[in-house]
Amino acid sequence: MVDVCLLGCGGMMPLPDRRLTALLFRCGGKMLLIDCGEGTQVSVKMTGWGFKAIEAILLTHYHADHIAGLPGLLSTIGNSGREEPLTLFGPPGLRQVVAGLTVIVPALPFDILLAELPPDCLSVGHVGDIHVSCMPVEHTTPCFAYCLELKRAGRFDVEKAQSLAVPKAFWKRLQNGETVEYKGGRYTPDMVLGKERKGIKVAYCTDTRPTEGLVNFCRDADLFICEGMYGEDEKLPDAALKKHMTFSEAAGLAKKSGSKELWLTHFSPSVKDPELYLENAAKIFENSVAGRDLMMKTLHFE
Ligand SMILES: [Zn+2]
Ligand SMILES: [Zn+2]
Repeated sequence: MVDVCLLGCGGMMPLPDRRLTALLFRCGGKMLLIDCGEGTQVSVKMTGWGFKAIEAILLTHYHADHIAGLPGLLSTIGNSGREEPLTLFGPPGLRQVVAGLTVIVPALPFDILLAELPPDCLSVGHVGDIHVSCMPVEHTTPCFAYCLELKRAGRFDVEKAQSLAVPKAFWKRLQNGETVEYKGGRYTPDMVLGKERKGIKVAYCTDTRPTEGLVNFCRDADLFICEGMYGEDEKLPDAALKKHMTFSEAAGLAKKSGSKELWLTHFSPSVKDPELYLENAAKIFENSVAGRDLMMKTLHFE
């Protein structure tokens, strides 16, 4: 089971009733944050999920609307009593950006580990049980889309375990993914499990133009969170110029990728009420939702 919270749904600048885009993901007692615009810590506070369990922060790119909230958030995580290291991931330039932003929070009680992703990076690795992949997207500065997946092991296969003479005493541990060594023998989970079952996949793409690569990247996502900077199709030239998307372009990606649900986010301040343009997305991809600050969803295995 995973919980997802869209902390804010604005692009460029926070508005009185709209915070900047960020996403909080919670799974197995650990949390992962994507982006950290100005004021993100206020939204995190409002979730009631606490700060201490934020294990990692994934940054899409280094425009202020995605990172300016970092010093304040780090300070608050420090005040929450965290002492374990926290990892920051992001495209090239991470070191310089974090060095600059942390000048004003010099004495944090935890270490910050920096994982600067190479420009063509496709995999971030694991944060707890969460498998994180990434891909470079098309924006005005190096930028990554991220996919968070909770994988699901195959069903326990008693016949297979018996035919391979795996001692019953080890079944439980193997089922939990452990490898067991015993009297010169080596037992691995694949000896007792069937093929991997469908897990939970959440994709997050902002800021970017729609690309063919994104279609594959978001393939079969249970939840696809995508920028929709502009509501009207007439704004397409602006979207193309500024390397953003219209609602209908985001919906096109959702449809082509076979995603189950689309949350639009990163609205231009000129989009006063995203609901007014939602039809532009819904006519292409029915299960389109206009993002709202603190919109939450819990996703379960099928
Ligand atoms: Zn932005
Ligand atoms: Zn940007």
